[in-house]
Amino acid sequence: MKPLSYTQISLYQSCPLCYKLQYIDGLKPKDRWYFSFGNTMHTCAEHFFQVRVPPPPSLEELLRFYEQNWLSAGYESAEEEARYRAYGREILAKFWEIHTAAFRMPIAVERRFHIDIEEVKLTGYIDRVDKLDSGRLSIVDYKTDKELFTTEDLEKNLQLTLYQLAAEQIWQLPVERLTLYHFRSNTPCSCGPRGEAQLDKARHLVLEVADGITAGRFPAIENQYCPCDFPEHCPYYRQQYVDIMAEPKPIDILRGMGVDGAVEHYVSLQAQIKELQSQLDDVKQMIIDFCQAEGLNRVYGKEHAITYKMVEKAGFSQDEVRGLLEPDGLWNRVLSFDQSRLNQLITDETVAEDIRHKLKALKQVISAYPQLWVKRLVEEE
Ligand code: SF4
Repeated sequence: MKPLSYTQISLYQSCPLCYKLQYIDGLKPKDRWYFSFGNTMHTCAEHFFQVRVPPPPSLEELLRFYEQNWLSAGYESAEEEARYRAYGREILAKFWEIHTAAFRMPIAVERRFHIDIEEVKLTGYIDRVDKLDSGRLSIVDYKTDKELFTTEDLEKNLQLTLYQLAAEQIWQLPVERLTLYHFRSNTPCSCGPRGEAQLDKARHLVLEVADGITAGRFPAIENQYCPCDFPEHCPYYRQQYVDIMAEPKPIDILRGMGVDGAVEHYVSLQAQIKELQSQLDDVKQMIIDFCQAEGLNRVYGKEHAITYKMVEKAGFSQDEVRGLLEPDGLWNRVLSFDQSRLNQLITDETVAEDIRHKLKALKQVISAYPQLWVKRLVEEE
């Protein structure tokens, strides 16, 4: 299996099918302005810090480099590109001012790494690694995201966790600080290093993703980025993007109806059922009220009769039963097999980790049934 990168792992996590289309089938995603912008800014930060000896490049030299390395792909118009080009210069000038004043040679810039997590190879590039006065490491990753990062973003960020794993293995020194550098505001958002439990969780995640890929598990999972650049290959979007009705079919499943007709017919029937159900509930209540008011248990129509009865459902109070059975050791015999409690157990960190992993491995599909959900497309738009 080829080495995995953070980007691949995170794509597999959001949608395994999208991962497959991109990294196994080799489909190319579309150019996006934010990738071009991010890459240009990364290259400039790399250029600034990658000097052999101080001082770093002058502002003029850095801006010249910026212009030479500007990537134009993905912008929707010349105006949009010009706006971002000017914006990038502004950000970079501020970056130069801050980092020239406090310039320190990093120990690595855009450092490529390959590490092994058991039998899986993990690869990537760390934007910058500094050695702090304490002798420990500081990892910096540049981001051109719009919003500033919250403490929660930092604490959950998988990329930083994987980079800590890699850096500690390469330099054999502990990491003291992890930073997502918010380029747009030139703000370093930092947190302390990951503990052993979080590092271990990340290792397991890498193994889990590798396992899914090796086993050929590539289901489509809808997520916030849908539709991706390959909707014509996705079971959720294919019908919208490809004229599947034009493809020859061995049997006419829709019995001559167009798929759009079948969808609208289904929704209309559902609405009629809902309306009828509400009328039914109304008449039922009228009959119950009438029986109760007149002290009747049966009422008659011309062709039918309806019997009214209060049905009682007997059950047990859990506390009372427990109080009775527990002293005789019988309580465990009436406890049922509760799936949701098992799911809680899997995420409960007070339970031994190997038990939780073994339990998770036992999880399997025990029943599957077709179901339909309806949503109104017009409302969504
Ligand atoms: S559109 Fe389909 S394939 Fe693409 S990310 Fe969404 S679910 Fe996955």
